[in-house]
Amino acid sequence: MVVMTPGASEAQIDAVRERLETTGVHVVVMPGELTTAIGAIGDPEGVAELGLEGMHGVDRVVPISRPYKLASSELSHHEPTVLDIRGRTVGGGATFCLIAGPCTVESAEQTLEVARTVEAGGASMLRGGAFKPRTSPFAFKGLGLEALEILAAAREQTGLPVVTELLDPSHADAIAAHADVVQIGARNMQNYALLEVAGRLGKPTLLKRGLSSSLDELLQAADYVLKEGNEAVILCERGIRTFETATRFTLDLGAVPWLKLHSHLPVVVDPSHAAGDRRLVEPLSRAAAAVGADGVMVEVHPDPEHALCDGPQALFASDFARYAADLAAHAQLLGKVLA
Ligand code: PEP
Ligand code: MN
Repeated sequence: MVVMTPGASEAQIDAVRERLETTGVHVVVMPGELTTAIGAIGDPEGVAELGLEGMHGVDRVVPISRPYKLASSELSHHEPTVLDIRGRTVGGGATFCLIAGPCTVESAEQTLEVARTVEAGGASMLRGGAFKPRTSPFAFKGLGLEALEILAAAREQTGLPVVTELLDPSHADAIAAHADVVQIGARNMQNYALLEVAGRLGKPTLLKRGLSSSLDELLQAADYVLKEGNEAVILCERGIRTFETATRFTLDLGAVPWLKLHSHLPVVVDPSHAAGDRRLVEPLSRAAAAVGADGVMVEVHPDPEHALCDGPQALFASDFARYAADLAAHAQLLGKVLA
């Protein structure tokens, strides 16, 4: 929609109409009492590139259609996307998925112990970082390939599908060979080359919301993966930066019903990275279930006090079964079973 200035002349209105028509859109001129609005119905992309804001008599250009396409519930699909990951269902409203595991794979013993504990407690999938994005370049960056092999062994022992982060395109083949779900971390949500690589791996992608990214930007990032022909994308709300510093990030729970409304993709919540404090993880997990999330991803460690990364937010493995049972009861209130 192009809004003309109050003093715009007929010639200026005609010039805008003619320029719009060069893109093949259907143009409707709507004279008002003070100003004239010109509606362009058709491909918004072509219109955005016309540079109409610079034309004489144009006040502003207001996009009516949404910037994301493939992730939108309006345009591509009408049915919610439901994923089957080694027999675990994500999305669709009948199930709740619980992805649990250590922040980082530290050793075979630590990871296998957590894997066995979370599997026994009812988890749907195992998470674990092999290549870690760290704020400081001097912090532990993960065991890399060795960690991928440990995760594969944990899957072998427990049957749990493995979720792990793709940090660098050069790791893509190794990640594809070991992971069931490829995680794109918050810091890489707008790493468009990496998103395209993830899209081409042919594995479900768990896309975390950037620390300071809007939901529009998250859905456009999802479009990068979807346009590679990969329809299996899970969105993850993990907290954003706000003026509030009491929690590590501010968990945007409103994002969940908003995303469910505007996208067909499943949405999970990571309360661990949002809270940064294990005491908040259980109430935030319940809240995620209550606002309609398709699942939760949480960090669990056998000995969080000695964890190499994110210990303060990790649930004690010994508490996991009780936590999972409580969460399952909350998911059940919405008619969902842990799966
Ligand atoms: C993670 O899940 O391991 C992680 C690093 O999270 P985020 O990208 O959300 O910070
Ligand atoms: Mn972590």
